[in-house]
Amino acid sequence: MKLDSKIPSGPLETKWERYRSEVKLVSPANKRKFKVIVVGTGLAGASASATLAQLGYQVKTFCIQDSPRRAHSIAAQGGINAAKNYQCDGDSVWRLFHDTIKGGDFRAREANVYRLAELSVNIIDQCVAQGVPFAREYGGLLANRSFGGVLVSRTFYAKGQTGQQLLLGAYSQMMRWVAQGQIQLFPKREMLDLVIVDGKARGIITRNLVTGEIESHSAHAVILATGGYGNLYCLSTNGRNSNVSAIWKAHKKGAFFGNPCFVQIHPTCIPVSGEYQSKLTLMSESLRNDGRVWVPKDPKDKRSPSEIPESERDYFLERIYPTYGNLVPRDVASRAIKRMCDEGKGVGPTGYAVYLDLRDAVKRDGRDVIEKKYGNLFEMYEKITGQSPYEMPMMIYPAVHYTMGGLWVDYNLMTTIPGLFALGEANFSDHGANRLGASALMQGLADGYFVIPYTLAGYLAGESLSDVTEEHPAFKEARLQAEEHIKKILSLKKGHKTVDQFHRELGRIMWDYCGMEREDERMKKAKELVHELREEFWENAIVPGDSNSINQSLEKAIRLVDYFEFAQLVIEDALHRRESCGCHFNIRYQTEEHEAKRDDINCAYVAAWEYSGPEKSETLHKEPLKFEYVKLAERS
Ligand SMILES: Cc1cc2nc3c(=O)[nH]c(=O)nc-3n(C[C@H](O)[C@H](O)[C@H](O)COP(=O)(O)OP(=O)(O)OC[C@H]3O[C@@H](n4cnc5c(N)ncnc54)[C@H](O)[C@@H]3O)c2cc1C
Repeated sequence: MKLDSKIPSGPLETKWERYRSEVKLVSPANKRKFKVIVVGTGLAGASASATLAQLGYQVKTFCIQDSPRRAHSIAAQGGINAAKNYQCDGDSVWRLFHDTIKGGDFRAREANVYRLAELSVNIIDQCVAQGVPFAREYGGLLANRSFGGVLVSRTFYAKGQTGQQLLLGAYSQMMRWVAQGQIQLFPKREMLDLVIVDGKARGIITRNLVTGEIESHSAHAVILATGGYGNLYCLSTNGRNSNVSAIWKAHKKGAFFGNPCFVQIHPTCIPVSGEYQSKLTLMSESLRNDGRVWVPKDPKDKRSPSEIPESERDYFLERIYPTYGNLVPRDVASRAIKRMCDEGKGVGPTGYAVYLDLRDAVKRDGRDVIEKKYGNLFEMYEKITGQSPYEMPMMIYPAVHYTMGGLWVDYNLMTTIPGLFALGEANFSDHGANRLGASALMQGLADGYFVIPYTLAGYLAGESLSDVTEEHPAFKEARLQAEEHIKKILSLKKGHKTVDQFHRELGRIMWDYCGMEREDERMKKAKELVHELREEFWENAIVPGDSNSINQSLEKAIRLVDYFEFAQLVIEDALHRRESCGCHFNIRYQTEEHEAKRDDINCAYVAAWEYSGPEKSETLHKEPLKFEYVKLAERS
């Protein structure tokens, strides 16, 4: 199969406008006849559901949580980018586009990213109209702050709860249509498989997480907005319910997987504290606006941070990267922190932490101002660690946070399966090898509010789709397979290790062997270790309970089985990429200053993997990336 990204012709600045003028439309009367499935109610899914329902489509929306409002998006703290240039500090659509391409280490498509930057301004207007309470300046204008990797202030925020407020906006729009019957909402449902009829996505199989019932749902198109797969590493900043299963199942049915090894490690997380921790907590990147990252100059210095004078502190990000200082992109900051700790300069009981200090900002602006900006983050930190960041610098260490990889999609956000779309973090599209802070919310909402309404219409108007109901043999077969799979997992009754134990071990392997720094021999070893662990799982795991009621061990086991398979693809992708770029740092490819060394001649492509069958190596397809508008440059 030849990959076709379907990028419209013409100048970059007018591609999307032209696309919108030329795309086929569905008449209002016909829209009512089309059923669309949306899996996921985070920002991408909720915004898509609301907009498609508003347009007149019959929408069926699914999520794992008991309420759509509990999708992982609610955890987003720091903000959302938009090229409004309210600060008059030189921002523009072009600059946001350029920063995003450069921040992604030149591994994203120009056309997609330019569209994202263009749409960013509409998102803010839409959200304000919905009543999202963005922070404001004294005079009433929306306030902005800076995020890593940029030199302008373009991040709109609502304290440290931006995701929550944006999600409440999208959720309320969605619920309006639920109330009117235009959206049928299915909470507590987990998609187990995708159903394909005549080569097109025509529905899904779900499990009711309360009753255990396996259900079939047919539609004319399926949209996956199921978020990221950071929990492959077990410990991550993602919500515990974030998982890879929906997109992995779609992948096994023919959707190519783009850049799976691009996993972002965020520099400012609360360090791991013990064996039985189930997740890690992010301290928003926004804190790097006012916080300074440092370690004692003398690695043997064990004094309390407040006793260490200025002259004996190493503000290493400011020292190594004078232009961006504490606001260097995430991958750069994460690796610098790791290096400090590996050199024995880390602080705290484990030595795997550095200080993030807001002392100077409190002195400069006063406690009130800092509290207004970051109060809830400070509270969260104090609740978890027992220490107040007003009195002691926070301790931070990098952790898995976001996945740039995802289902490969073309400009229409359609996967390689006709009729199957992927939005938000579930697709690979816009962030290249490293996402800039505050750009995920922007992408999720751009995809859901502004892109999918056009591209879905283009697909539906151009296809003649036969009537397919849940009685079709393809549904019966997929359903049967799902039931058999669950039966097999539930037969694991005599083992001695819990699903959580296996997940922790898998995460440890991935973190140690295919995490922040990668090396060929270790990655090859990781493949063996994952294989052995998977074998052991089928011999020695215990999955208690049955499938007729709430059974979280079963839910976790279903996801873990997918992670075992998916882990191999992540490692394979990391192994094949003969360069370092963004988050993917293979120690073989680095500059003398330990920066990622790209190979633009041989590696400027998207790796799109095609499933070839159980236990078989996947087939690699390469989508070349052409840079006609930005000049490739080293990111340092
Ligand atoms: C702690 C934290 C803070 C962040 N802060 C920011 C920030 O300040 N700014 C920013 O831009 N980005 C931030 N991000 C990233 C951002 O939050 C996410 O990328 C974004 O919210 C993802 O949205 P989404 O709609 O794609 O998916 P999600 O919000 O993850 O939603 C996924 C949905 O899919 C459903 N789902 C998943 N699998 C299935 C299945 N098999 N069956 C049925 N339903 C399923 C879930 O129930 C859920 O409803 C942050 C991330 C983290 C972890």
